[in-house]
Amino acid sequence: GRAKVVVIGGGFGGATAARTLKSLQPALDVTLVEPNPVYTSCPFSNAVLANLREIDRQQFGYDGIKSAGVTVAQTSASAVDPEAKTVALADGNRLSYDRLVMTPGIDFNWGAIAGYDEAAAQKMPHAWKAGDQTVLLRRQLQAMDDGGLVVMSAPANPFRCPPGPYERASLIAYWLKIWKPKSKLLLLDAKDAFSKQRLFQNGWAELYPGMIEWVPLSKGGKVTSVDSATLTLTTEFASHKAAVANVIPPQKAGAIAAQAGVADRTGWCPVEPVAFESTLRPGIHVLGDAAIMGGMPKSAFAANAQAKVCAAALVRLLAGDKPQDPILINTCYSLMAADYGISIAGVYRPDKGQLTDIPGAGGSSPLVAVGGLRGQEALYALSWFRTITAETFG
Ligand code: FAD
Repeated sequence: GRAKVVVIGGGFGGATAARTLKSLQPALDVTLVEPNPVYTSCPFSNAVLANLREIDRQQFGYDGIKSAGVTVAQTSASAVDPEAKTVALADGNRLSYDRLVMTPGIDFNWGAIAGYDEAAAQKMPHAWKAGDQTVLLRRQLQAMDDGGLVVMSAPANPFRCPPGPYERASLIAYWLKIWKPKSKLLLLDAKDAFSKQRLFQNGWAELYPGMIEWVPLSKGGKVTSVDSATLTLTTEFASHKAAVANVIPPQKAGAIAAQAGVADRTGWCPVEPVAFESTLRPGIHVLGDAAIMGGMPKSAFAANAQAKVCAAALVRLLAGDKPQDPILINTCYSLMAADYGISIAGVYRPDKGQLTDIPGAGGSSPLVAVGGLRGQEALYALSWFRTITAETFG
């Protein structure tokens, strides 16, 4: 019969993989397993917090995927049997596959911060999976008194979207400056350096002087426990009581990855760098945030690029051919205000068993912007979002 590929997870990685597989090889039988009828995009969700857009503009259905010829199973995968090559679904069905693609994104390491569990996240939202949590955090910000302290906590590496916490701090400050100008934002960080750091810090000094205080690991930034009843975050050095608290906890690959045996002791999934086949379970390919991708960051841009590479490799593998060495690109845009954007780009290729940054091929926005460049980059960011969501969801 026809070769079967099952894709678990219909986010930027999985939806792209399923669509690309069908367009490269229409004879393939491709099933996408995803429980949510509507996907809510994290990219640009920080702009929702700042009231620059509504949450419904973040949402995408699966009609475009279905019309590309992909079968969409609207349920979650509950167990993978790598020996039998089957996937058990929560709705009771079972799918068999020749190759499996797993793109379950992230789950949180609940309990890594004492007191931070799913119930605490209703009081101190993470908003690191977009949707209800994004709306909750925005509502809390809007209800806060002018002069209130917003406290954020950012995890150690690796985690979803390295520049994301700093874009979020910037856009919350943007909104506070307009509506609650006596308020301040404290950003407690479990690391001493972060993505686009000088661009962010220069931008904070220029746009929001005195509003954002960043506390690195070495100055007591690592949050070790929280009390959700009093909105208190405690670090190795001090306790901070928040009016609004946004806790971005440590993360791991989506839970189904550990069940399938493709996650290692770090909680993430090791893969080879050409077709992203698991080094732990042959026949299973892992990409996007769940995978360990060498130098590539965990971004929607990267997940989309990896999905196209993986789809092309799968078509060759299923035809008995060898996949070709890929070259991948990633760009991460961040907004610091409605009309102020910055970016970082990298180019990657397989080298010594992992995806490696090609020296000199990438770069970031210049520290000194001339000729309205920051405004231009804010427009590029929005057009990137339109392009990537159209490419992913059709
Ligand atoms: P996801 O998009 O999370 O998709 C995973 C899917 O798998 C989900 O739909 C989930 O429902 C499904 N799933 C999980 N378990 C199962 C199961 N057992 N069975 C079936 N389905 C399952 N990236 C950028 O490139 N640019 C940005 O500007 C940007 N901004 C961001 C801002 C914020 C605030 C955040 C939090 C992230 C941002 N990102 C950005 C990162 C981006 O959201 C992720 O890197 C991207 O979503 C990863 O795609 P993925 O397919 O690996 O995972």
